[in-house]
Order: sequence, then structure tokens, then C-alpha cells
Amino acid sequence: MSLNSTCLLNKNFSGCIGRFCTILLLCLLLLPVKSLFASPIDGIVGKISQADYTGYVEDLEDFQTRYYNTQGNLDALEYIQNAFLGFGLNVSYDPFTYNGSTYNNVVATLPGKTHPEQVYIVGAHMDSISDRDDPTNMNAPGADDNASGMAAVLEMAKAMVGYAFDATIKFIGFNLEEKDLVGSKAYADKAKASGEQVRGMLNFDMIAYPGNSGAKNVFLAGDSNLVDAMKGNALKYTKLTTTLSYNNFDDSDQYYFHSSLFPGSTSAFAIEAEPLNNPNYHKTTDSTDTSNYMDFAYATDITRMGVATLADFAGVIPEPSTLFCFLLGGLLLMVGSRGKKL
Ligand SMILES: [Zn+2]
Repeated sequence: MSLNSTCLLNKNFSGCIGRFCTILLLCLLLLPVKSLFASPIDGIVGKISQADYTGYVEDLEDFQTRYYNTQGNLDALEYIQNAFLGFGLNVSYDPFTYNGSTYNNVVATLPGKTHPEQVYIVGAHMDSISDRDDPTNMNAPGADDNASGMAAVLEMAKAMVGYAFDATIKFIGFNLEEKDLVGSKAYADKAKASGEQVRGMLNFDMIAYPGNSGAKNVFLAGDSNLVDAMKGNALKYTKLTTTLSYNNFDDSDQYYFHSSLFPGSTSAFAIEAEPLNNPNYHKTTDSTDTSNYMDFAYATDITRMGVATLADFAGVIPEPSTLFCFLLGGLLLMVGSRGKKL
């Protein structure tokens, strides 16, 4: 029998109003309690968009080459800078010297609320290479290597800007990775020299070619705490399977941030499980135009795994509205209880 019909039969309207208020109070209480148990990380992961991710990959490959000493490299740096600025982040170029010339990483910063001096980095190399043609002129689209990783960093930045974190997060496009990790080494050296408290670094390099096996498998390597956390988030938020290694691989940008080389830091990277089977690796055909090559759903899942791990390590702070609702619910319950005694 419904509440209304009970009321009409009993004609006890004040009692019904009391019951209605109790139900309303319970609803008000249950909503914030539910949101207390729902992690803000769920919300961040939910903001990752495959369409936007794909758009970033396509835009980056459209520079035709991002080889380190080309106009395409400079244009791509500017594109990444503008994307970060569009999210509302502070952005700066991070200059370093290579063979007597100056080049730049691009760094966007989301300041921490509780421990802004502690820094977590998420990075990918933005330069590209092709050894079949002269990449100085054109033809190094680098869609998988590594527009796919850079797009993940951009998408993570876009998803995280609406949230607050204990620690500072830096989103970095590293340059000259293809010249033997020049940009990331320069950043790590400078950070150590200046005393920057880098607590962790996540790197994404080649994450859009799922391989021939048909398995959506991702290879995770580096310091165990980050590797294990990424595995956990892959299980929780994606359909990915994982292959793990606790070694520090010296062929991508996380290398100089590993605990063994950077005191106080920890690092790991994610890479497609079959990079050595990638038929377009460092070729002019590393492009979204190559059919049956890129799997954007796979790459977007790797991005979701990454952003969940980064948000956890950087200490995402629950939204103030959640706490406000909880306090309001409690207050209303107290008022309701007192009214009942009267
Ligand atoms: Zn690469």
C-alpha cells in the first residue's frame, strides 16, 4: 500500500508528514554516503574520451615530421603548449642544450593543494623519427611512436584539471627521445640539481598497436609500486591484460626517474606488448592511414589505466560538495530527531 493511500485512510496527516520527512532525510543521507564511497578517481577515468584521444593523435601526425631539428617539431611543441593552455594549465618551455643548440621540452603544471613541493610527472616523447626517408624534410608521422603516448598525456591533463590533488602534477612532452633520451635526461638532471622533489614519473611510449595476437595486452615495466598499481587499475577500469617487469628499461623516458637513479622517485612505463612486431616502427607508414594498424579503444584503455594510477599517487582530494552534502545530511538528521522527541 502506498504512503498516500495509508494517509488518506488514517487521516493522520501530521504523522504522514513526519514519515515523509524521515524518508526525505534518509534519502539526503544516503546520497552523500554513496558519494563518499565513490572515489573521485571514477569520475576522472570517466572523463577520458576515445574521440578526443584520437583527435590528438591525428593532429600530431599531421605535422608530417616531429624530428628534433625541424619546423614540424617546433610546430608540434606549440600545438601541445596551446592544448595545455586551453585546459587552463600553466605551461612553460623547458630548454636544454644538445650539440651546441637549444631545444625544449614542454611542461604543464597543475599545482598541488597540500604538498605542492612534491611532484608527480606524467610524460611522453613528442618527437618522431623515420629511418626509411629523411625525417628532416618530412615523412615521420610517428602516429604510434609516439603521438599515441603524447595524446594520452594530453587526454589525462584534460580529465584532471577539474580536480584537486595533494601533490603537484606535471604533464610533460619530452623532446629528443629519439636521440637517446636527451630531453628527459636533461629534465631529470636539472630536477636533481635544483632539489625538485620528484616523487614519481609515469611514461607512455607506443600504446596504440595491439599486436597480432588479438589480446589487448599492455607491457608495464619499472618500479614495482607503480607497475603493480597500473596492473590493478587495468583490472578495475579496463579490459586490458598486463605483462609485468620490475626492470628499468633504458629505451624510453622513464629511465632517469627510476628509484635507482633518482633518489626519492619511482618510475614506470606502459608500452604495447608487441612493439618489436610493429611493422611500421620508425617508418613512414607509422600513420593512422595504415589500415588495421591503430587500435584507439586499446590506447584509450591504457590512458584510463594511467590516469587512475596518477590520480591515486598524486592524492586526489574529494570534491568539497561531497563533504558539504555529508554535513548537511547529518545536520538535517539531528534536527529531525529533535523534532520527533517533541
Ligand atoms: Zn618512442
